[in-house]
Amino acid sequence: MKTITNLNISALKGEMETLGLKPFTAAQILQWLYQKRAATFDEMTNLSAENRKKLAEYFSISSTKVVDVKNSSDGTCLFLFELSDGKKIEAVYITAESGRKTICLSTQVGCAMDCTFCRTGQMGLMRNLTQGEILEQVLAIQRCFSEEQITNLVFMGMGEPMANIPNLVSALEILQDQKLFNFSKRKITVSTAGLVPKMAEFVKQSNVHIAVSLHATNDALRDQLMPINKRYPLKVLIDFCRNYSQGPRNRVTFEYVMLKDVNDSVELCKELIQLLAGVPSKVNLIPFNPFPTVDYQPSDEATILKWVDLLFKAGIQTNVRANRGRDILAACGQLAA
Ligand code: SAH
Repeated sequence: MKTITNLNISALKGEMETLGLKPFTAAQILQWLYQKRAATFDEMTNLSAENRKKLAEYFSISSTKVVDVKNSSDGTCLFLFELSDGKKIEAVYITAESGRKTICLSTQVGCAMDCTFCRTGQMGLMRNLTQGEILEQVLAIQRCFSEEQITNLVFMGMGEPMANIPNLVSALEILQDQKLFNFSKRKITVSTAGLVPKMAEFVKQSNVHIAVSLHATNDALRDQLMPINKRYPLKVLIDFCRNYSQGPRNRVTFEYVMLKDVNDSVELCKELIQLLAGVPSKVNLIPFNPFPTVDYQPSDEATILKWVDLLFKAGIQTNVRANRGRDILAACGQLAA
């Protein structure tokens, strides 16, 4: 049986023809699924009873289920999903004092990037998520927080989004559709470890904001922390970012996980400032979130503040990411279903 959330907009229209339904039924179904968040075909009351029955015989309405929800003391919620093949993924709901309510989404089961400081990387890559598995993370969390308006989506959960472009792009089409989820491009960020050719492909197909996981300011160190750097070294990555940021879009956001005595010296901060010269950018410093199987430690607060000060004086907009959800292993880099 096909899962209806796996169909992109044009495929759904095609299926209507196969089933002998009117073309506009596709638009009605899309609105029921993604605007009214119907959980059954029976709820789709502007379709005839006969058509609802036909649809329910032909399609399943979802392919995932929420099997666990953990609540952090800071309001962060970690959702564990089971997929139809029994594999598990996680998504996170994060509230900020600013009123921002963000969902952090996964794009793969596991990840092939193998960054040494990331817990997801230790699982290896199992497979890409389907369009429906991406959308259903949003649907399930929206249903759970039905009183709240989700303001932002970040693709910073499990997996490397640029390794799953077709399903990511077709999910984004539905997430950005004004008649459906209606998330504006400014409210969506896709984060990448730096698969440069795929980034080039992605920016041709999508207008959402891009964040780059940098984490080191020279190739020797980045090679150690992020094996992908051996394929696409810093010069290639930064050249891409420089070109991209010349376009009509926002600056690139660079994420930098602060690892005590590994990548957090004042010299490296100066190296970062030089590296980003001429690249309109924003820097997000992420205090390392520990997990049981690695030795890294988070940088001291004083070190992080020193970096903020140096970057600020160099004219680079800098934020320190709050460690939301650390107590339930829901923070950046701690997801490992
Ligand atoms: N694969 C994508 C998106 C997932 S990770 C990417 O690499 O960007 C989201 C962010 O969390 C990345 O910047 C990642 O490097 C960072 N991260 C990974 N492990 C972390 C950890 N243990 N503590 C803090 N941040 C971490």
